[in-house]
Amino acid sequence: MSNKKKAKAQTLGFQTEAKQLLHLMIHSLYSNKEIFLRELISNASDAADKLRFESLNDPSLLESDPELKIRISFDEKEKTVTISDNGIGMSESEVIENLGTIARSGTSEFLKNLTGDQKQDSQLIGQFGVGFYSSFIVAKKVVVETRRAGLDSSEGIKWTCEGEADYQLEPIKKEDRGTSVTMFLKSEENEFASEWRLRSIVKKYSDHISIPVQMLKQEPPPTDENKDETVISEPEWSAINDAQALWTKPRNKIKDEEYKEFYRHVSSDFTDPLSWSHNKVEGKQDYTSLIYIPSMAPMDLYHRDASRGIKLYIKRTFIMDDAEQFLPMYLRFVKGVLDSADLPLNISREILQKTPMVESIKSALTKRVLDMLSKLAKKDQEKYATFWSQFGTVLKEGPSEDHTNKEKIAKLFLFSSSSMNDEKPTVTLEGYVSRMKEKQKKIYYVTGDSISSLRNSPYLEAFKKHNIEVLLMHDRIDEWMMGYLTEFDGKHFQDIAKGELDLDEITDGSGEEKKTAKKKDSKSDEKVISKIGDILDNRVSGVRTTSRLTHSPACLVIGEHDMGEQMRKIMEAAGQSVPETKPTLEINVKHPLVKKIKGSDENKEVKMLTQLLFDQALLSAGRPLDDPANFVKGINKLMFS
Ligand code: ADP
Ligand code: MG
Repeated sequence: MSNKKKAKAQTLGFQTEAKQLLHLMIHSLYSNKEIFLRELISNASDAADKLRFESLNDPSLLESDPELKIRISFDEKEKTVTISDNGIGMSESEVIENLGTIARSGTSEFLKNLTGDQKQDSQLIGQFGVGFYSSFIVAKKVVVETRRAGLDSSEGIKWTCEGEADYQLEPIKKEDRGTSVTMFLKSEENEFASEWRLRSIVKKYSDHISIPVQMLKQEPPPTDENKDETVISEPEWSAINDAQALWTKPRNKIKDEEYKEFYRHVSSDFTDPLSWSHNKVEGKQDYTSLIYIPSMAPMDLYHRDASRGIKLYIKRTFIMDDAEQFLPMYLRFVKGVLDSADLPLNISREILQKTPMVESIKSALTKRVLDMLSKLAKKDQEKYATFWSQFGTVLKEGPSEDHTNKEKIAKLFLFSSSSMNDEKPTVTLEGYVSRMKEKQKKIYYVTGDSISSLRNSPYLEAFKKHNIEVLLMHDRIDEWMMGYLTEFDGKHFQDIAKGELDLDEITDGSGEEKKTAKKKDSKSDEKVISKIGDILDNRVSGVRTTSRLTHSPACLVIGEHDMGEQMRKIMEAAGQSVPETKPTLEINVKHPLVKKIKGSDENKEVKMLTQLLFDQALLSAGRPLDDPANFVKGINKLMFS
């Protein structure tokens, strides 16, 4: 940028999303106002981390001021609060980029989700993590003065914003590197410009910050002894926090509140985490990890390019955010820090990917998270249900991604089942197995769009009759997931809408005779089978009598390895062509409709009834009809003639 341009003040507009967010902050009735301080301290701490990292390669960035710190001051008369740091600072273009736009993924979803209802929206604000703009919850005007480390003192920048529309930039001279943010408080928020108030908030939010957060020492009131002394001492800054990285402290020295506060710092999520695990590993490798399970899914959980991963530190020096190499995709909701003593300080993302040590930390962390979840499931079912509702479908990506831990992951799954009437999924595979019939060898399941359609599915009829439990899977990814989860506890899974089904073995001991008797269709059954088969010739791969149905007249069954309806819909939605596989029609010879077909000699009637039979089977399999109007006509004819 030319010097000429820099010499003048300029007014710039906010990016649309930034404007919206800012508007929200200015007008928010967010009840937890003090969080602005947490956000600004968090940013200052990040800035110190970044400087320390960059100074590894370029020590001159520390200038003559290597002690990183954050200072908080206020002016009771002017009603201002200032947070300054000697961290990395920002150049002019960084100020525009960082304070004038919002680069976070999920922002537009967040904004779309706002209802205008202040109470609901402030909850969302909390979940989204408001960042720098939270200063506008309490301030009518915010001034940022900053200079990037390494730039000349003449290259300081002053950013001023008094409203939602735009902000001013002005070059300033700034001797000290880093950033100071001054808030001019709204008149109703003046209480924040007070020693006591600030101290208590800072204490609450900054204990986990690893550099000193300082405030001016309070002048002690004059006592009799020093009343007459006239020495005016230099103002003295002293730290409010103990400035030790939280994860380096022993577990028994850390309060739950501190763990939670630290979570907010690493996650920008304001809700409490569900659970955490803090571990120091020594031996072949030395590292400390502190990982958290959030209680709420972020807006961008399913974005391909959303940031994920944990914060990486090496020997306490911050190295990078979102180090995604240490956890698999299906655990992308996990937040936290990893501090390694072995990795080289100059490591890059590219190198991380190729480092064997990273792979072994990844597998240890993965086990840790899975153990944490299994503990949570045992210890606190309510919390676990929350976890499942937020992250269950992500965890279901596990079996395809992580072959080694398949069984462990599957143990964490919750399903709906034909034996439980709960609205929410509550059944574990272990629970299912424990309830299996004595001779039952397989774990039965069925997939579909909704729990209600599954509960009424004709495929369940025989299972209901014999009181055999079936898992009802209605998550979009279930059928796909089951492609990878072929067995559990040594028992194979079977989709009850696929392949041949024989419940005799389970329901009636050694019924060898009965089986052969059943297998053999009677002459009259054979006749109706071929009658129907002739009519549906090009639409089904075959017709056979069923052991699945007790009440419905017919159902469609596909091959063991054919693609089911759920998968087909996903593939088609993704624009993929799906090979046509013809289903088998299974008929219930005891049903009046089938009997009617059996008894009729009139070609036209047989054709109409067969079509009705087939269409019903299509409908209950969740498939579209070729000619719905014709179906309606047929039904009416049957009812009223
Ligand atoms: P986040 O911290 O989640 O990135 P914020 O809204 O809190 O989002 O901050 C936006 C960006 O502004 C930061 O990512 C950082 O680049 C920049 N920033 C904010 N405060 C400071 C600071 N004190 N020093 C340097 N950069 C800062
Ligand atoms: Mg921030």
